[in-house]
Amino acid sequence: MRVLITGGAGFIGSHLAESHLERGDDVYIIDDLSTGSMDNIRFLQDNPAYKNRIFVHINTILNHDMMLELTGICDVVYHMAAAVGVQTILDKPLESIVTNIQGTEKILEMCNKFKKRVLIASTSEVYGKHLHAPLVETDNIIYGPSSKFRWSYAASKLMDEFTALAHHRTNGLEVVITRLFNTVGPRQTGAYGMVIPRFVTQALKNEPITVFGDGTQTRTFTYVKDVVSALMKLMASEKATGQVTNVGGIEEISILDLARKIIDMTGSTSTIQLIPYDEAFGKDFEDMQRRVPSTEKLERLTGFAPDKSLDFILSQVIAYIKSK
Ligand code: UDP
Repeated sequence: MRVLITGGAGFIGSHLAESHLERGDDVYIIDDLSTGSMDNIRFLQDNPAYKNRIFVHINTILNHDMMLELTGICDVVYHMAAAVGVQTILDKPLESIVTNIQGTEKILEMCNKFKKRVLIASTSEVYGKHLHAPLVETDNIIYGPSSKFRWSYAASKLMDEFTALAHHRTNGLEVVITRLFNTVGPRQTGAYGMVIPRFVTQALKNEPITVFGDGTQTRTFTYVKDVVSALMKLMASEKATGQVTNVGGIEEISILDLARKIIDMTGSTSTIQLIPYDEAFGKDFEDMQRRVPSTEKLERLTGFAPDKSLDFILSQVIAYIKSK
């Protein structure tokens, strides 16, 4: 099978590429390296077992001719390219909206032209600011005002979901929509704000751990290999067509407890530094207080749900960052 992965040099995209190569597929990657990196995929290109099976195009998904060619060649498309991380959204609001909305529109248009099955990577951000748990795909969506730019990410991804669903309804296009919950693992960088690589790096340097707000906000982290398994199974599942499905992990933890756990696991002498949100992100910021997935639907559709413990995930990330 020929698989096209947009954002294939990114953190999740590169793990997905690796798994498809291991399975024997040909992998086509398009990535503009805005947040992705050749370091994530060079070892795949250099692996003799994958010779003539990995094709990398450094280009934007907004390049019509390139997307026309790649979509035409491949059998299925994973659309993983997106503006990544809260920091990126706040630093480059316009670019982020254009990438997320126009990029996805273009991919869907191409997939519809060639009738190629496509998986759209959406995000748990789409749910907005709920306090209940777990979040179920049919839940209402609650956002803050448009002055708080964080919500532009959620709104743009929600528009991507609607556009994909509309293609399914109108054109019968086979779309699969996944809402990813805080994916973590080796190759993730802390450069765009992601909390676990940041905390682990700080702990290993015995520097203060920067907890934003009062640290009572919670997240549920998902191991990247589990995410890749879920994406591949959803791509293969007839029942997932035209559906929105959560992909998330199992252990809810507050950010303060996460900081303590990482200090403990690394044997660090770091202290914990509470930083007010407006100092970290400016005054127009609003955090999500709680984010816990229901994976009942994922399990029903694929027979699989992520099950890696937070201890396991952290041990993998610590080993990776130490090795760098
Ligand atoms: N966070 C933090 N310190 C950091 C980076 C992030 O306290 O150095 C917090 C952030 O405010 C959020 C949580 O950790 O409450 C998860 O942040 P991340 O950017 O990893 O993901 P998201 O906000 O998209 O869930």
